Formats: sequence, C-alpha cells, structure tokens
Amino acid sequence: MNRNTPMNSFDQATNLVHDALTGLSETAAPLPRASRASLERLITAKAAPAPSRPANEASTTSSATDTKAERLEQLRQRILPCEKCPQLVASRSHVVFGVGNPEAELMFVGEAPGADEDLQGEPFVGKAGQLLTKIIEAMGFSRSDVYIANVLKCRPDMPAGESGNRKPRPDEMATCLPHLIQQIEIIQPKCIVALGATAMEGLLGQPVVMREVRGRWHSFKNIPLMATYHPAYLLRNQSLSEKRKVWEDMLQVMEKLGCPISAKQRGYFLPK
Ligand code: SF4
Repeated sequence: MNRNTPMNSFDQATNLVHDALTGLSETAAPLPRASRASLERLITAKAAPAPSRPANEASTTSSATDTKAERLEQLRQRILPCEKCPQLVASRSHVVFGVGNPEAELMFVGEAPGADEDLQGEPFVGKAGQLLTKIIEAMGFSRSDVYIANVLKCRPDMPAGESGNRKPRPDEMATCLPHLIQQIEIIQPKCIVALGATAMEGLLGQPVVMREVRGRWHSFKNIPLMATYHPAYLLRNQSLSEKRKVWEDMLQVMEKLGCPISAKQRGYFLPK
C-alpha cells in the first residue's frame, strides 16, 4: 500500500511537465517542438492568474527565496506520490526519499532501500546503515551533518515468497535517477561518495568494475565523486585490509573537504 500523501491535480500536472523536461535534459533526445498556435495558447495561459492554493495546503513548488531545506521538502512532497515504476509501487511501504542536512558538504549515495529501510522510510537504517554511521562518525561527522540517499527511492520488489533484497535493475535506476539529481542540485554537496558498484552504475549509467573505480575520484554533475565499497560488503568481509581500503577512500574525502585529520585517524585499520 502506498501510504504517501496525494497531490492536487495542478501539482500533478506541473510535476509531469517538470519530470518530462528533466528527463529530456538528461538524455540526448531532440528538443520538443511546438506549433505557433500552441505557443500562443501557452503565452495566454502564462499571462492568466495562477490557480489559488487552499491556505492549509503546503506548497510543492520552489521560489528563488526558499532555503535548501524548504526546496528539499517541496521536492520530497512531489516525489512521495511517484508511481513511475508500477511493480515497485505495488510492493513498497514507503518512498525512501533521503535523510540528513540539506546544507551538507558530504553526500552518501547507495543503491536502493532494503527491507528495513522500506519499513522505516529512511535510508541505511539496517546493519549496513549502522556501519555507515560508524564510518561517518570516525570521519568526525555525525549522521545529521551529512546527507544520505539512494539512486532508487523504492525497494526493489522480490518474487512472491522470497525474502531478502535484490539489486535494482539499470532501467529502474535510470527511471529514478532524475529524483536524485534534483536532490543533488538543491544540496550542492562538495563531495559525493557512491557506496558500492551498483550505486556507481546507477550514477554513471554504465557497468563498472569495482576494483577499477574504487579509491579514485570521478565526477557527477561536476561534483567530485568517490567510489568505495558498500558497508554490506564490509559486513561480509571483515578483513583489516578491506576495512583499510574503505578508510583510505574516506581519508581522501576528508582531504578534499579540508577536514582536519589526526594521526590516530590516519592510522585506523593499519596492521599493528
Ligand atoms: S523507484 Fe523512483 S521512479 Fe520508481 S516509483 Fe519509486 S520514486 Fe518513482
């Protein structure tokens, strides 16, 4: 069941146009064409007064003076009723929008909500999320200092009778990616960390080999992008050397952000 708040028809229409234009801007599709008569009708409509909104209804459209927090909340209200992926809508409990500081300099991006996240409506709240929180704290931040989101906002559906989580498909991630791009455009973090190969694939839109992309700087929408292992990988592989690899990636992120780094932090997960 979708428990999210419905929008009025004007907002839905506005969002359809917005999503379509965003989708066009993300692809190499040719620009839309319109006849002179259509353009004249649009100009007439633009000159007409905007439909009034009931006083008790929250705005879901942004103005230039809105803060990042306000713009992010307006975006959240627009995304919560999203039904672009019928198979995910049918099985989800929540659209997992994202959580954290709208002014964050550091943003973590995972692949998709799992069962825990779907139930709670928040990304990275299960065991892997607890480990991510520890990594964030070891860097000298708190979870509320950074922003955490996924490429896919709805939990990938599972075959009837099967538990666990499945990887999101490339087409699912491509469908949802415009939502993440809008979040990033509002937050404007100084650094993005992609957690795992699937998140990297969702961001870049192509398959990646983790050992080739991990620990190196990439770019997403002109923002430095670091690829590192998903915390769930570290839960499966507890070796000091793998933990150190992730930590070295985080040291690079801290350096990029200009964070002070103590000798103790530099030495985490090194063999004694
Ligand atoms: S996964 Fe993304 S695009 Fe698909 S229904 Fe959920 S919010 Fe919409």
